[in-house]
Amino acid sequence: MKSKSIGILGGGQLGRMLIQKGMDWNIPFSVLDPDPQAPCSQLASFTCGKLTDYEAVLAFGSSCDIVTVEIENVNTRALKALEQQGKQVFPQPEVIELIQDKRTQKKFFVDHGIPTADYMLTANRADVASNVDFLPAVNKLGREGYDGRGVQVLRSAEDLPKAFDAPGLLEKLVPIHKEISVIVVRNGEGLVTAFPPVEMVFHPEANLVDFLFSPAEIAPEVAERALVIAKEVIVELRMIGILAVEMFVTPEGGILVNEIAPRPHNSGHQTIEGNMTSQYEQHLRAILNLPLGDTRVIHPTAMVNLLGEEGFAGEARYLGLEGVLTIPGAYVHLYGKVITKPFRKMGHVTIVDDDLDSLKKKANFVKSTLKVTAWPSH
Ligand code: ADP
Repeated sequence: MKSKSIGILGGGQLGRMLIQKGMDWNIPFSVLDPDPQAPCSQLASFTCGKLTDYEAVLAFGSSCDIVTVEIENVNTRALKALEQQGKQVFPQPEVIELIQDKRTQKKFFVDHGIPTADYMLTANRADVASNVDFLPAVNKLGREGYDGRGVQVLRSAEDLPKAFDAPGLLEKLVPIHKEISVIVVRNGEGLVTAFPPVEMVFHPEANLVDFLFSPAEIAPEVAERALVIAKEVIVELRMIGILAVEMFVTPEGGILVNEIAPRPHNSGHQTIEGNMTSQYEQHLRAILNLPLGDTRVIHPTAMVNLLGEEGFAGEARYLGLEGVLTIPGAYVHLYGKVITKPFRKMGHVTIVDDDLDSLKKKANFVKSTLKVTAWPSH
């Protein structure tokens, strides 16, 4: 049987790892990205173009059998037109549209009984200021905030100048015991599987995940509830493909859904080495309507994001690689990004070790050893 061709909107690291898996199955890929040096540019048939441009997305998708995304900020009107032409688009354009705005995401959770922190909509900074009684809260931009850039904690009236002067929401500041993520997937027949929850540890400044442990160290009943909630979300969305569900575990062991992403996710990188099936393979299985894979954890893993060092911008230089390669069970993934910038995601390292103490020590060693700086410019 001839494989269907898959077009990916976005040519970053998530697309790159999806292609790396798909090559094992002889799947022809094409990629659309505005950056001619994007991580996928050398791996597939590559088109340079804007993901938010109607004509660019429509023209790109017309030559593929299936269109998928590795980023949410894409032109959904063009995706709907492609569906009308008979193309398969997974995740469905309606799902991408709903997720593009944190306000519609929250409304969806509330309308479908998905537990989430209380919130109210706000139109601008003045609107936030007139709701000072709602503080302490987290002010979130409705659209186009990501990796912590659209999130501002407002503890008291003094913080009001930090509020966003754009449509968004105010969300009650909730006590967080742990931040976890469940990656869940659904295929065209409605079959659903989920990966065991993982636990994220954030970089205090950059607000990016920089340590991740799998499986999460949480009570079995909390893990079970997280899986049930993640499955509810994808079933209610009726989406096809992979969905990351980020959640907070409260000190009492309750779960609140924070946000969702309908694509392979940073919190699923470790499935490549740590689980029976990787998130990338599972997404391909789902969108090709193939049997879904076994999601079980084979070994506990730690995943360290490799971020561009502060103070360096320019052609990427990797320091400490040899040291990391001496560690048994350390797997280095570099994303092929030519230029580094402070906190840019340049790669990740997954460490596999059945001994949890040794695993955490190795993760710390990797974090302190492997650095991305820049070559001196000429
Ligand atoms: P982004 O889309 O930029 O990742 P998030 O909505 O995930 O933004 O928020 C970033 C971080 O802010 C979360 O990982 C969490 O640590 C903190 N946060 C977000 N919402 C709340 C909340 N309601 N209460 C407490 N902390 C929160």
